[in-house]
Amino acid sequence: MRQMLINGKFTNGNAKEEIEVQNPATEEIIDSVPRGTVEDIEAAVQAAQSAFDPWRKLGSNERASLLHEVANKVHEHREKIVHLLTLEEGKPLSENEEEVEWVINTFHYYAELGRHHRGSVLASGESSQFNFIIKEPYGVVGCIVPWNYPLLLLAWKVAPALAAGNTIVIKPSEMTPLTALYLAEHCFDGLPAGVINVVTGYGLETGEPLVKHPDVPVIAFTGSLATGQRIASLAAPMMKKLHLELGGKDATVIAEDADPEIAAKAVAYAALINAGQVCTSTERVYLPKNRAAKFTEAIVEQVKSLRLGSGLESTTDMGPMIGDTFRTKFEKQIADARASGAKILTGGGRPKHLEKGFFHEPTVLTGVDHTMVIMREETFGPAVPIMEYTSFDEAIQLTNDCQYGLGAVLISNDTKKIKQFFDDVKAGTIWINDPLTDNYAGPFGGMKYSGGARELGEEGLEEFRETKHVHWDFNMEDKGYWFPYGR
Ligand code: NAD
Repeated sequence: MRQMLINGKFTNGNAKEEIEVQNPATEEIIDSVPRGTVEDIEAAVQAAQSAFDPWRKLGSNERASLLHEVANKVHEHREKIVHLLTLEEGKPLSENEEEVEWVINTFHYYAELGRHHRGSVLASGESSQFNFIIKEPYGVVGCIVPWNYPLLLLAWKVAPALAAGNTIVIKPSEMTPLTALYLAEHCFDGLPAGVINVVTGYGLETGEPLVKHPDVPVIAFTGSLATGQRIASLAAPMMKKLHLELGGKDATVIAEDADPEIAAKAVAYAALINAGQVCTSTERVYLPKNRAAKFTEAIVEQVKSLRLGSGLESTTDMGPMIGDTFRTKFEKQIADARASGAKILTGGGRPKHLEKGFFHEPTVLTGVDHTMVIMREETFGPAVPIMEYTSFDEAIQLTNDCQYGLGAVLISNDTKKIKQFFDDVKAGTIWINDPLTDNYAGPFGGMKYSGGARELGEEGLEEFRETKHVHWDFNMEDKGYWFPYGR
């Protein structure tokens, strides 16, 4: 069994039981972690609280060096981390290499951004006055992370929160805690004790106590809408700062001018990377009616060519889903769509050649509409549901007909359509011809029910700083406008 990191020490804490971690490609148990408790959260918050004052007062040069050191250690250990990510999460090695690259560069990026500025000087009302804004850390940040990008989503919170001067308690997903603990042991060891703590456990037993803790003023959470709503309801009475990155139901619109082969490759990638288990996965595809047959044929051909298997094989394009519950929920959406008249063009079942593991064939459907669950709720699996549109206005209306607003993709070189798309689609990220490519300086996050938080870029740092205005008058004198009035 691995151990948790609390106050610079590895420990089982108060855990009486362990949580087994399963490889989703083989169903084998690969390791276990402590089933953390409310007492463990208490100890971790206390440690982070004690570490806060010295950490926030550290000079920005030293803090930057320590964050660069974390990045360098992740770089040194990257092969092991990539392998462990593939074992616990399932996606192919090449996707995990990219995830680890993101972790390294996010720490380097915020190491530098953190020493850039921490406020601004204002125009003062009088020449005897000096007005300025200081950006301050909040204190202890609770970081609650999901399983689909266990380290990237951890880094997008931890690096800016630390750069801003906060200290951290991380609660990784119970399904993918091993890589967070690996980082704790091999990459966070140069940080002062208590600056980062990692408590493993279930959402109800460790996540909720963290959310409810009075000494944790910020909750940075990535996960499902339902959990985000629960966290918001718990945190609201305590006036906590909430940083919520929730679900998505992103659309890809293919415009009439698109090349069918390129569009098909873009759609397959956007919908099926990490077996469709990405918050910004394309979960709805809209095609122009007059070219729909050609585009559909190209998409089916592209999806059929994908190779399913263990993420450890270099030839694998798509790995398993994370677990049986998720696969069953996915299969139910497909079955519901079928029962309502949708047609499966490829896939639709579990692959016969893979006996073990939570695999599902990538599945292309047509004949879907917005009354079906598969077009309304998050699918989080390898589905490509296709619908036709008759005008570009209708494509935009369909794209916006959704409770989520995380991202949206357009495949086109038609400048008028491109402008209409980024002007009128309500989503936090618009990708044109290059789906799902993020940028360290580009704020990532959602609109509507996807939550309003932003990660990456300057906005990603600002999320972890609060604003203090200082009004300073150089003259200590009785102001004419003080009491008594009528002087
Ligand atoms: P989840 O909401 O089930 O769990 C996320 C984390 O919250 C886990 O660590 C879990 O243990 C914890 N948790 C569960 N219940 C809790 C509670 N009551 N209080 C506090 N913590 C609790 O989500 P998941 O299945 O791990 O992840 C998939 C979801 O994450 C999808 O909906 C996906 O869209 C979303 N996601 C969003 C983004 C984004 O940036 N917007 C990125 C990746 C994933």
